[in-house]
Amino acid sequence: MPVYVYECLDCASKFDLDVIDTETYESEVLYEAKHSINPTDSELESACVCPRCKGNKRKQVYHGYNIAGYVKGDGFLDVRGAKRDMHQYNLTVNDPYGQYRAAGEVDDLKNKFKKMGQHNPNSKHFVPKITEQDVKKVVDNNKPINKVD
Ligand SMILES: [Zn+2]
Repeated sequence: MPVYVYECLDCASKFDLDVIDTETYESEVLYEAKHSINPTDSELESACVCPRCKGNKRKQVYHGYNIAGYVKGDGFLDVRGAKRDMHQYNLTVNDPYGQYRAAGEVDDLKNKFKKMGQHNPNSKHFVPKITEQDVKKVVDNNKPINKVD
């Protein structure tokens, strides 16, 4: 069963959470509970009893988790950015081709990924200019065919 982290609200009321240090917060306010992903109310009540005060007032927190993610919408809009970031992450953390790379190749790739995200003032975008002649040509080609009786 997965482990969830809860903040006991009764234990938390004994401390000023704005100034509490991390060690005290973890040992005196937080507790772990194991329950299924979609627990019933009774299962949740029995699984989430505070081990210190036996209370059941709680709030689920994500303290200590290293959560990094892309929001679906933003990820779709910035697919290239997401891929670039993932390539950069894989290069630094777990490079599957690390043993086959030549010296300096990783730094070269990192620079390449860094540049991919930057605007290049020299890049030019061309939009074709549509003239009246072009419009006439298209209209003439799409004329309905006259049926010959
Ligand atoms: Zn408690």
